[in-house]
Amino acid sequence: MHTEHSIPEYVNVVKQGIAKRFKSERPKKVIIVGAGLAGLSAAYELLEAGHEPLVLEAQHRVGGRIYTMREPFARGLYGEAGAMRIPRSHELTMAYTDKFGLQTCDFIMGNPQAHVYVGGIKRRLAEVQENPELLGFEVSEVEKGKLSGFYWEQTIRPLVEKIEKEGEAGWEQIYAEYDQYSVREFLELKGWSEGMIEMFGLLNNQEAMMNSSFLELFREDGGNYYTNMCQIVGGADNLPCAFLPTLGHRIRYGARMVAIDQTPDEVIVHYQTRVGRFSARGDYAIITVPFPVLRHVEVLKPFSRAKQRAIRQLHYDASAKIFFQTRRRFWEEDDGIYGGGTVTDLAIRNLYYTDYGKETGRGILLASYTWSEDAQRWGSLLPHERIEQAIENVAVIHPQIREEFETGASHMWHDDPYAGGAFALFDPGQQTLLHDEIIKPEGRIHFAGEHASLYHAWIQGAFESGLRAAIAIHQSP
Ligand code: FAD
Repeated sequence: MHTEHSIPEYVNVVKQGIAKRFKSERPKKVIIVGAGLAGLSAAYELLEAGHEPLVLEAQHRVGGRIYTMREPFARGLYGEAGAMRIPRSHELTMAYTDKFGLQTCDFIMGNPQAHVYVGGIKRRLAEVQENPELLGFEVSEVEKGKLSGFYWEQTIRPLVEKIEKEGEAGWEQIYAEYDQYSVREFLELKGWSEGMIEMFGLLNNQEAMMNSSFLELFREDGGNYYTNMCQIVGGADNLPCAFLPTLGHRIRYGARMVAIDQTPDEVIVHYQTRVGRFSARGDYAIITVPFPVLRHVEVLKPFSRAKQRAIRQLHYDASAKIFFQTRRRFWEEDDGIYGGGTVTDLAIRNLYYTDYGKETGRGILLASYTWSEDAQRWGSLLPHERIEQAIENVAVIHPQIREEFETGASHMWHDDPYAGGAFALFDPGQQTLLHDEIIKPEGRIHFAGEHASLYHAWIQGAFESGLRAAIAIHQSP
């Protein structure tokens, strides 16, 4: 059974527990692989509903792709290597932050005081917004005087209106009509000039994703994900850690799944620790590890051909983040930039000004946040070279960095052995071809994780899929 529930139904589960909403035959022993938010939420809700979860986690921390790097930074400072912002429209994510009483504050996206650096010239975003032609892109007559973000909103407006009017049915039609389109093909279909496409690629951070499914981008912008965002005060890791008081004793750290097997009556997960190989047996299992990781796990009773294909083919994006600790918050003190980000055509591409840690007097700069090809290129450098190169780039925008830099760190998600990529990102056509197969259980084995949801690359996808699997197992015989 892999019934999809609506987000409001899942929110009710968070508020009231599974048992209040759904009947169960008997308590079950459930092995959950991965202590990211999908695994933690599934384990938590199953435990609360009277089942017996055991979580196997390869690393020595919970959170997975919620990774608040506190080292090598001074006390009170950190860099969010994984998730850093939550759309307030993500009701399920907000339901868990509320449930655990976590404090949130605004996450600033667009800041007119921040810069745009394109073609060797640095300008304030406000200037560019006032006069997009300053950027010098060769656009068509109808596009003249328009910024790519505005033009994009105009282009997708009819589709957004369709959803506002028709809801779910509208989405279904858009899925059917546009699944085969990449972002670039969609823009070409709508008559965009090459100049406007380039501006969109650079300013709206789409350049490296032009060949991904149009639907991935449309879901985010049609759903207004980026318009009203917040962050968790004190670090995103407060969210996974909030599950620990209830769940801590159910988690086995340093336990890496290496093989999985099942019979008609049970599931067996074989795992490796520092001291040897062990196995855990349960009535059911929930596998939350990303598919690139699952590819290297031995499946003793082979999955269906369709699942195997999904595991092989599902496209994952790459992502890199580079952080600097600075002695002084020069972007605030000298440049009047409070939050938001600067966009560049340099290798660093996007620079974000974090607004936490003021009490330390120091600051954390997200010196570079990249995806796809832009990210792969950082991965090919050694860690110290990444810092050196990023300093060179940042110095073009903020020469003060040479004086104020104290330490730096980077994380390459595509090189992370426990992720194997940043997040699932459909190629054109993959939603129709693979999604149902990705989320389908295989006998007693269920699948969760952001990839087993249509909220790819968002915390909400992890929660939605975790709850779907937990409810299905709760209701199973
Ligand atoms: P994971 O968190 O990856 O959990 C899987 C767990 O399985 C990990 O703990 C891993 O260690 C463990 N594991 C792996 N292999 C094994 C094994 N063999 N045996 C046992 N355990 C294993 N979302 C937002 O909402 N807002 C954002 O701003 C945002 N930004 C992001 C930025 C980046 C760079 C990235 C990478 C992601 C971002 N996301 C964001 C997405 C969000 O972080 C993820 O969707 C979510 O954290 C995924 O949770 P998960 O449980 O599906 O997977």
